[in-house]
Amino acid sequence: MESLKQRILEEGTILSKQVLRLDAILNHQVDPHFIMEMGKEFARRYKSDNITRVLTMESSGISIGFATAYELGVPLVFARRKKTLTTDGDAYFERVPSFTKGIVTDIMVSKKFLGTRDKVLLIDDIIANGDAARGLIRIIERSGADLAGLGIVIEKSFQAGARTIRELGIRIESLVTIKSLDNEQIEFE
Ligand code: 5GP
Repeated sequence: MESLKQRILEEGTILSKQVLRLDAILNHQVDPHFIMEMGKEFARRYKSDNITRVLTMESSGISIGFATAYELGVPLVFARRKKTLTTDGDAYFERVPSFTKGIVTDIMVSKKFLGTRDKVLLIDDIIANGDAARGLIRIIERSGADLAGLGIVIEKSFQAGARTIRELGIRIESLVTIKSLDNEQIEFE
């Protein structure tokens, strides 16, 4: 998506060699028209996969997940972050390290909203080390649902997440791929 590359160049801020601040387009403010364009693109790529549910992580995945689910005509489920690990037989829990916050959080999806009847498209904003995505994949596996693949807005290919997940045979569709943030430059693949 050329328009997305342009927005990243104009509105992204390089915080370090690892982290790009995207508050203006993904993490603090969203442009609804632009988010719908991204949702349309993910829906186009997965339209023949008989998706029954879109799964994402709160909070930054919700807008793109919503747009994608709307285009596919299916429900959006978002994993919720919990401060304390509660035991609840009606939900799937996973412990996930947070890339940006440097802490571990527990994520939860109710068993009501994911099950063996589902074919799931996993949507997220950015993939770095892949911990968030792996946590969600484990939840999908435990629910018995089928994983169609991942839709990621920005893949940072200089970090290992997307590569290691593809090595498991899982499909990942990224809208843009950033191969380096070195020398205070955003370099796309
Ligand atoms: P991972 O679990 O793949 O290491 O990190 C994924 C999550 O961390 C994403 O959902 C995203 O919210 C956040 N994240 C990772 N890298 C970046 C980054 O460079 N910029 C921003 N704004 N968020 C990031």
